[in-house]
Amino acid sequence: MNTAHTEFDIALVRNDFPILDTEVNGRPLIYLDNGATAQKPQSVIDVIDRYYSEQNANIHRGVHQLSQLATQAYENARETIQHFLGARHSYEVLFTKGTTDGINLVASSWGRQNLNPGDEVIISTMEHHSNIVPWQMICEEKGAILKVIPIHDSGELDMAAFDSLLSDRTKMVATVHVSNSLGTINPVDEIICKAHSAGALVLLDGAQSVPHMRVNVTALDVDFYTFSGHKIFGPTGVGVLYGKEDLLNAMPPYQGGGDMIEKVTFEKTTYNTLPHKFEAGTPNIVGGIGLAAAIDYVSQFDPSSLAAHEQDLLDYATATLSEVPGVRIIGTAEKKASVISFVVDGLHPFDVGTLLDQQGIAVRTGHHCTQPLMDRYGIPGTIRASFAIYNNRSDVDVFVAALGKAVDMLA
Ligand code: PLP
Repeated sequence: MNTAHTEFDIALVRNDFPILDTEVNGRPLIYLDNGATAQKPQSVIDVIDRYYSEQNANIHRGVHQLSQLATQAYENARETIQHFLGARHSYEVLFTKGTTDGINLVASSWGRQNLNPGDEVIISTMEHHSNIVPWQMICEEKGAILKVIPIHDSGELDMAAFDSLLSDRTKMVATVHVSNSLGTINPVDEIICKAHSAGALVLLDGAQSVPHMRVNVTALDVDFYTFSGHKIFGPTGVGVLYGKEDLLNAMPPYQGGGDMIEKVTFEKTTYNTLPHKFEAGTPNIVGGIGLAAAIDYVSQFDPSSLAAHEQDLLDYATATLSEVPGVRIIGTAEKKASVISFVVDGLHPFDVGTLLDQQGIAVRTGHHCTQPLMDRYGIPGTIRASFAIYNNRSDVDVFVAALGKAVDMLA
């Protein structure tokens, strides 16, 4: 177990993450691929271990003690997430496999029921493929039209263009809260307000926002909000879809099977209440419990200390990176999370990434599942350094020195 922190102390925080002691290619690991997945604190690892060692049973089904303990732990986890998100009810919090699964659930269930030929769904140029393809699929099936908000060179949404795309044909605006490729923090308050005025619903892809900021779904008045556990220090294969009660109640089930039913006969099946209606089959029980442990972990810190720490890393990394010859940062929005994407003139991102790996540095290279965004910038991909709670300025120094070496070697 980690000891509770009374204030944000980076040295103590680093002690909570055992993997940071690992060596890669004979060098101490510098982990800057947090946008892809974050590392896990000991408290999350312990909770998972304890669950399988002492509590493992299926939930919602058994009268025996272990099943009841597991059910209690899983439903407590849902309540932890409800409070973290500021949702009104725990049954508005659905467990999913992750962000991708949450968006597919809404596109399939809500989209199949509500989209008609000629209706419009608005997304943006900076969407992850998981917030493009499910909408393309349902729009194709229903004869609806997908519209795309363009961006400025800075990586900010063109809000004037958004205004002109919105109309009474718009039924859904589905957009990323924080861009995984650019770091841009989108003006979601404004988007939600304008979309609602036009009579449209809003889904926010929160995969990259929950790890960097506190989000309150009720204050935002967002209709659907989805994120993945593994990007916020929790396990893989589990995530959350928040949806407003009345919308979820009106939507048909996404998948059929055990636990989502009230009564099954061969003639007709009636469905369970929320949240179970959308949770068919045995879920990722330990995933949900581990995710709640991750949320407990981040919740012990003052959000403004975390934000200040990440802002410092972003500013420091932006300044030092900009001094490396040939580096061009992609995504220079005024409001950014601690994510820096860049290209180096004349060099392929994969080659740079490989040389960084040889020096123990984990960054992401490629299109980051945002191919249309890369096309917008006319590049095949970027090198992306994404920071988390446990990164420090020394990580940035080692990374930038290694990048300088890599650039010299490849030049
Ligand atoms: N949306 C964004 C902005 C992401 O960064 C990611 C993952 O990188 C996803 C969606 C998909 O998340 P997952 O693969 O956990 O479903």
